[in-house]
Amino acid sequence: MADFIPLSVPNLSGNERAYVNEAIEAQWVSTGGSYITRFEEAVARFVGVPEAVACQSGTAALHLALICAGVQPGDEVIVPTLTFIAAVNPVKYLHAEPVFMDCDDSLCMDIAKLETFLDTRCDLTPSGLIDKSSGRRVSAVIVVHVFGNLADMDRLALLREKYPIRIIEDATEALGSRFLSGCFRGFHAGTVGDFGAFSFNGNKIITTGGGGMLIGADPEELAHARYLSTQAKDDTLRFIHNEIGYNYRMTNVQAAIGVGQMELLPSFLETKKANYERYRSNGIDLLPFRDDIQSNYWFYSYMTEKRDALLAYLTDCRIQARPIWALIHSLPPYLDAQSFQIERAPYYWERVVNIPCSTNLTAKDVDFVSESLRAFD
Ligand SMILES: *Cc1c(COP(=O)(O)O)cnc(C)c1O
Repeated sequence: MADFIPLSVPNLSGNERAYVNEAIEAQWVSTGGSYITRFEEAVARFVGVPEAVACQSGTAALHLALICAGVQPGDEVIVPTLTFIAAVNPVKYLHAEPVFMDCDDSLCMDIAKLETFLDTRCDLTPSGLIDKSSGRRVSAVIVVHVFGNLADMDRLALLREKYPIRIIEDATEALGSRFLSGCFRGFHAGTVGDFGAFSFNGNKIITTGGGGMLIGADPEELAHARYLSTQAKDDTLRFIHNEIGYNYRMTNVQAAIGVGQMELLPSFLETKKANYERYRSNGIDLLPFRDDIQSNYWFYSYMTEKRDALLAYLTDCRIQARPIWALIHSLPPYLDAQSFQIERAPYYWERVVNIPCSTNLTAKDVDFVSESLRAFD
């Protein structure tokens, strides 16, 4: 019987263990220590920004981004329906309301539809952009770079010139993806909007067990996010806190793993791409990434008309696969939320199956999965 082939598992084959040992020996295991700074610097340097704020999770980074972007209770925030729910929940943490938007064929938010929504359903008033149907202020858009593909940021940037909306990039799946053409040629995912969030959860391209990172265009706003992430501490001796903060800071142990992982990231990017191309040359029809970008090839999307039968079959082959996320506007916490012209997302929801894409997948594994998929069709 063939070995089990997992979907997406960590690859801790570098200096992670040595660095964690060092952190433990130094007894710097909590939310202070040099690995945190080193990890922040490594990520910032890699994506080409001056600084980054290490957090407990990508979700925490997104929450801080929304706060620091000025999202107020009762505001509306435009979000995709086809994504992981952690991209949306922070909107509700702030007692703001999501408005669900469709995807285009990149699986990312359909920016053309977003434009139609803003142009036809909203009024630009002195107090901001107002959704005519609800009377609420539309204050931000959370755009997700799904599976390492990139959303159309050129078009989104034009909307930011036209309307007073903040742009938060959920780049949790897209560390290493960057634009090869357009206004943002050379820019990495997360560096174009007002804020960008990364995740280092166990299934992401690099992991710290759990963790996240926030970057931002405005140094003051980013400094505010850092302050809020550490309980809004103004005076550590006398416990003076002038705002309500959060316990969102990454620990030194997590960051030690992260420093090891950043050393491996360039080779992970190569492996992800090579395995993607091997699937394709084996005749496996995976969804393409945009051709004007360099993707990190985080997740591979196989299209099938027989999703549930295929998933059952792959389980029998001891190959782990999964359907794409349930559409968030159809889930119980969000049934009352507003959604706008959702048409493409159900099509992809019915058909996309993610297949094994770990960086420790061998060529032999890729060939085995490919043969199994071909045998099913
Ligand atoms: C993983 C992920 C998150 C959340 O990151 P965590 O580190 O798990 O909190 C948010 N949005 C998307 C699209 C993700 O894939």
